[in-house]
Amino acid sequence: MAYQKILRKGLKPSTAHLAHRTVRAALNEAVRRRHITENPARIAKAPRVVEEEIVPFSRDEARRLITAAGEIRNGARFIIALSLGLRRGEALGLKWSDVTITWKHGCARGEACRRTLTAAECPVRRGSGTLTVRRSIQQLNWQHGCTPDKPCGHEHGAYCPERYGGGLVVGEVKSRAGRRVIGLPRPVIEALEAHRGQQEDEREAAANLWEEGDWVFATPIGRPTHPTPDNRAWKALLRLAGVRNARLHDARHTAATVLLELKVPLPAAMELMGWSNAAVAKRYMHVNTELVTSVAEQVGAHMWAAPNDEDEDEDGPEGALVPV
Ligand SMILES: [Zn+2]
Ligand SMILES: [Zn+2]
Repeated sequence: MAYQKILRKGLKPSTAHLAHRTVRAALNEAVRRRHITENPARIAKAPRVVEEEIVPFSRDEARRLITAAGEIRNGARFIIALSLGLRRGEALGLKWSDVTITWKHGCARGEACRRTLTAAECPVRRGSGTLTVRRSIQQLNWQHGCTPDKPCGHEHGAYCPERYGGGLVVGEVKSRAGRRVIGLPRPVIEALEAHRGQQEDEREAAANLWEEGDWVFATPIGRPTHPTPDNRAWKALLRLAGVRNARLHDARHTAATVLLELKVPLPAAMELMGWSNAAVAKRYMHVNTELVTSVAEQVGAHMWAAPNDEDEDEDGPEGALVPV
């Protein structure tokens, strides 16, 4: 069946659902215009829209991935996915101009280091910084450019000699879709700085082949990274870390779950993750039984507090007026 084919191609059930609705509407129109007498789409069942399953990494898996990421080229890219939850296109779309890091001396006051070295050169420097998500890189599918009377014969548009409309596109992230400023944890700052140094070596090695685009996670010649090789690098990292096969999106789920485990208030978590509505955030709520239990305990302690505790309430015992 056509919908099964759509699903097999890796498209979401919602896409198949939309296809079903479109076909049904078109056939209804055909019935109305008396081209056909009965709409076949009324007989064919639409696939059910199944919510994507959320499988965050355990803390141990996340640590193994972060350690392994320190050993591979552009590995900071996956540290950012795990700790900050950036979407693939957002991470690949980062430019150095989106990253702001400031350094402070970590040495004691009065040390000679403070007079002779800059804060960034201090051996025990302490960084703080932010990252602004304002851009996203997407790979569009190539469309056939051949005409129906002279088809190229290839199934995928990418192989069509007359292909058009595909390739990498860089888009601005709109505020509702997740334009945001994220604070950088100190280990992420150090990972980014180490990565910056490695990229400088690559720029030197590439010499005049280097195409300066200010991309944080560039190819060895400075161009933006395509999602396809990025996904291969992710799968290789999973094998290197000895972690179960998982989608890169599970790294984003991990970052989200950590925020909720740390009891970051929902509006702040939504801002950090770039969620446009609370419905998405709520899907994480049933993920972690530990979290659910802890919330239940807090609610219990709050609403069924022992009478003794109530005596210390602001409005006094039994709600009596508090002397001013
Ligand atoms: Zn210092
Ligand atoms: Zn073609």
